[in-house]
Amino acid sequence: MKEKDCPCFSGKLYKLCCKPFHEGVLPTNALELMRSRYCAYAMRFTKYIIATTHPDNPHYEKNHQAWMRSLMNFSKNTRFEGLNIIEFIDGDKEAYVTFEALLTQHGNDASFVEKSRFVKSDEKWLFREANEINSNINIVKF
Ligand SMILES: [Zn+2]
Repeated sequence: MKEKDCPCFSGKLYKLCCKPFHEGVLPTNALELMRSRYCAYAMRFTKYIIATTHPDNPHYEKNHQAWMRSLMNFSKNTRFEGLNIIEFIDGDKEAYVTFEALLTQHGNDASFVEKSRFVKSDEKWLFREANEINSNINIVKF
């Protein structure tokens, strides 16, 4: 990976990919938000993770300081080695992104596949929750 390539593995430069979102530009769809959240995990932008999580998300923590610490611990102990978008179902108020996150923690594979649900409130896409995915889903890498 070249130095300025976006950590979301889009193949674009960071400044032309997730950087505007991290600086306050609103993602136009849930896929952009999902990529920018993966990128924020990789770059340890814990505030961005919190700001883009819906308050009704089961993992939402009212204590932001404690939440930031645990997010930081996760990011520091994880290597973010790839992101494969499997499916994107767009919508006006609700959208789904199924993805494979390739992660390593202390030399162990910690990769997972997740179908994330996103909802739009006040023109802002937010991560609502992770859903179980069909185990025989076909993973198409692109
Ligand atoms: Zn990106």
